[in-house]
Amino acid sequence: MSGHRARKRFGQNFLVDQDIIGRIVDAVRPRPGDVLVEIGPGLGALTEPLLERVDHLHVVEIDRDLIARLRRRHDAARLTIHEGDALDFDFGTLGAPLRVVGNLPYNISTPLLFHLADYASRLRDLTFMLQKEVVMRMVAEPGSADYGRLSVMLQYRFRMAHLFDVPPEAFRPAPQVTSSIVRMEPRPAEVLEARDEALLGCVVAAAFGQRRKTLRNTLREFIDEAGLAALGIDAGLRGERLALADFVAIANRVAAGAGQGSGPK
Ligand code: SAM
Repeated sequence: MSGHRARKRFGQNFLVDQDIIGRIVDAVRPRPGDVLVEIGPGLGALTEPLLERVDHLHVVEIDRDLIARLRRRHDAARLTIHEGDALDFDFGTLGAPLRVVGNLPYNISTPLLFHLADYASRLRDLTFMLQKEVVMRMVAEPGSADYGRLSVMLQYRFRMAHLFDVPPEAFRPAPQVTSSIVRMEPRPAEVLEARDEALLGCVVAAAFGQRRKTLRNTLREFIDEAGLAALGIDAGLRGERLALADFVAIANRVAAGAGQGSGPK
């Protein structure tokens, strides 16, 4: 097809289905003046139709062979190529509000989402192709088997919508799993109510660290039963039953120093 041999270690599965490529680009709705970055342009399946709709595009790519190929094919004035690992890339160096697109390598998708969450205030939206199973976890609601740390921490930062699925046959080589397109939009700063986001992260990690245990046990080091009761939360529940707002309320109570010893023992 291209003379390029797909590298497994870089999660290379290239999109070849023109109908799917068109649907992804339509879902992005690129506009000429957008500040847009594509992560992992590969052989350019999305890059080329995106370049037809915007004045300028940034890409971040790790594979030197693919970078050389992109350089040969595109005018540097319209395509800025950032060579390196997207996990280390400083997205703050690009303009804002930044739009992000990518058919992401599966092996880096979760750390990359957390990396991008650090730039949320500069981002306008993100449209990603990910493993369907990961997207289901991102958009999961309390009480479902998919609901966990990824759901709570990303839902704190972003509003997310599962747009559509992409079958393995849309790629060369075909991956073993179904993929999905997800759109993410940062929630406005005014609604991010955690006083200490690092603490929120610790509380959520503890609550889901041992999924079968109740909050009484998993959150013991942060808050006691009386503290949970003061928030209207039953200590006999498991983390998977709590809504995002409950986790924020717990973290804020702990941050205020009212987690332990706050009521009758
Ligand atoms: N966008 C192309 C497409 O849809 O056909 C390629 C998608 S392929 C699943 C993932 C791309 O991300 C590859 O081009 C790969 O080299 C690149 N990549 C892998 N790991 C990366 C990383 N850590 N940082 C930047 N790019 C990476």
